[in-house]
Amino acid sequence: GLARHYPVRLPGGLFGRPGLLKAVDGIDFDLARGETLGLVGESGCGKSTTAKLALGLIPPSAGEIRFDGAPAPAPARQDAAWRARRRRMQMVYQDPLGALDRRLGILDQIAEPFAIHAPATPRGEARERAAALMDAVGLRPDMAARFPHELSGGQRQRVVIARALALEPDLLVCDEPVSALDVSIQAQVLNLLDDLRARTGFASLFISHDLKVVRQMADRVAVMYLGRIVEEGPPETLFRAPLHPYAQALVAAVPVPGRRRARTALRGDPPNPVDAPPGCPFHPRCPVAIARCATERPPLLRDAGRAVACHLAPASPAPASPTPASPP
Ligand code: SF4
Ligand code: MG
Repeated sequence: GLARHYPVRLPGGLFGRPGLLKAVDGIDFDLARGETLGLVGESGCGKSTTAKLALGLIPPSAGEIRFDGAPAPAPARQDAAWRARRRRMQMVYQDPLGALDRRLGILDQIAEPFAIHAPATPRGEARERAAALMDAVGLRPDMAARFPHELSGGQRQRVVIARALALEPDLLVCDEPVSALDVSIQAQVLNLLDDLRARTGFASLFISHDLKVVRQMADRVAVMYLGRIVEEGPPETLFRAPLHPYAQALVAAVPVPGRRRARTALRGDPPNPVDAPPGCPFHPRCPVAIARCATERPPLLRDAGRAVACHLAPASPAPASPTPASPP
């Protein structure tokens, strides 16, 4: 049987070779079966690195990632245990053309995972299941022999989704799955993903820089900044009343019809994650920073289904013995 949770716990860890990659540092979340966790943040905040960690493509250098109760086998070996785990997690990336084999017709493309991961499946059965998957993602049977370059971007992403679902994964990692598509097509692909999730029950790590997209798809949302989760909560409360100043700026930057664009837009680019500022990593850009923020890193504190990492957040307790911090 499947355990209910896929906890990902990487408290304060550094990842990859020291000094080269420190993009994800201080990640701590649980993904329940069938649940969608949305990850939002500016580019370079560590969203894609979090996806690679969850998929076991890169190792955490501290903490651990448990999938269905078991820690991830070392990605370097890619042995039977790694492959068995890996086949239960699939991914959908931004660029469907890059994810597909240009020389394979789409039916063969969708049938390929059976040949790779379940070679005992008879060829006729694999093709039958691929045809059923084409139907499930809304691709007409007469398109079976077409090649990826003969399809539209939206159709190609449907092929990628069908292929990802062929082996009935428990976890689908979607990294900017609709960012390359026209807005009209985006809604169709999002509705398809939502529909397939309801029917098959996969859990999903859904990564996007687009808050509207995440709001539509996620059961819970985590906001990342410089490789850390700075706020987490249900989309309806997080987007209506964000607690962290960075989350507030992100939400305020989303244009709302009839509302004047907020003045609290984020200024400047985020610093290099490898060289993150001391204290609260957001303090150089934070409009409400206090002296303490430059020296003391706020922990991610959980309370009643929400979590926030900010010295000024309501959930944050006062320090036991306040130490005056001098500005840098
Ligand atoms: Fe701003 Fe300080 Fe909160 Fe960081 S801890 S978000 S700098 S107020
Ligand atoms: Mg990315």
